[in-house]
Amino acid sequence: MSDHSIDIKISKASKSKIESVDFNNLDFGKVFTDHMFVCDYKNGAWQTPEITPYQPLTIAPSARVFHYGQAVFEGMKAFKDEQDQIWMFRPEDNHDRINKSSVRMAIPEFPKDVFFEGLTQLLHLEKDWIQKGKGNSLYIRPFVIATEEAISASPANTYKFMIICSPAQSYYAGEVRVLFAEEFSRAADGGVGFAKAAGNYGAQFYPTSLANKKGYQQIIWTDASTHEYLEEAGTMNIFFRVGDTLLTTPTSDRILDGITRKSLIQLAEDTNIDVEIRQISVAEIKEAARKGELKEIFGAGTAAVINPISGFEHAGEKFELPKLDDSYATFFKEKLLNIQYNISEDPHGWRFRV
Ligand SMILES: *Cc1c(COP(=O)(O)O)cnc(C)c1O
Repeated sequence: MSDHSIDIKISKASKSKIESVDFNNLDFGKVFTDHMFVCDYKNGAWQTPEITPYQPLTIAPSARVFHYGQAVFEGMKAFKDEQDQIWMFRPEDNHDRINKSSVRMAIPEFPKDVFFEGLTQLLHLEKDWIQKGKGNSLYIRPFVIATEEAISASPANTYKFMIICSPAQSYYAGEVRVLFAEEFSRAADGGVGFAKAAGNYGAQFYPTSLANKKGYQQIIWTDASTHEYLEEAGTMNIFFRVGDTLLTTPTSDRILDGITRKSLIQLAEDTNIDVEIRQISVAEIKEAARKGELKEIFGAGTAAVINPISGFEHAGEKFELPKLDDSYATFFKEKLLNIQYNISEDPHGWRFRV
């Protein structure tokens, strides 16, 4: 999808930092590669894109992003196969989604051809940062911020679209136990829950810190009006296995339309695993757990791929999930990774060669 009619101004870093990075001990999202992609919006148009050394920005304190949180982001990954080819997974969906998020936040959409040309050139420059081997990847963070220097509460006239990259290892999050939300909410009808809008995440930190104090790593958000239906994990969509049926919530304006989620639904259909996409009540999951029919809960998202959950609490009642040798979580993770790393067939055309 390389389009050389798109001019990108490239200034390379004089020296790579890669020698100083211990790829066997990476903390997620803390180390960044040598370059970043930047494109400014002003006078009603996206300007000439640039790739520059990764460096701090100079932004006025009055820039609207600091006051009104007018900002959106994406999360995607690049993988290297045994032949040193670089692949991404369904990146067009990330581009579509950042534009959907942008529209909701009154940010101008970013053109697809510039997005792909910028991403491709950036990844070619950073190819040594993508390590081979299952589990290793380059996490890619596109984002847009409102930069206009004016604290009136209205959409900005200037923006910065950027892409930064951080090498990642597969990580084992340890035992993850979750709290089903009873009081706080993540998203409401008509709100911005479906968008990767920056403020959605900041708003979860406080309730999550209270959950952490009780010994729970994450919250499973419930619907804001009744707290009776399970929705998602805040950075991951959520799946329940009751008997041998997989359950997940339908997307809506409260739920993020995850690419991992929809890929798992497709893989389940491909492998004749029953999937029900419907509202899931807290009551039915507790009942299934009491009867021993609740076999698994797992989160699904780009960063962790699949994150098995080992127990949950709701209304003071605690439940532990069984440890399975033949979990769906392991089965789906393996299937997805094999497609992502160009190990297996790709019947749905999800891989994208960079
Ligand atoms: C990003 C995100 C997900 C997962 O989406 P993927 O496309 O699978 O990475 C799920 N829920 C929320 C709230 C998210 O921000």
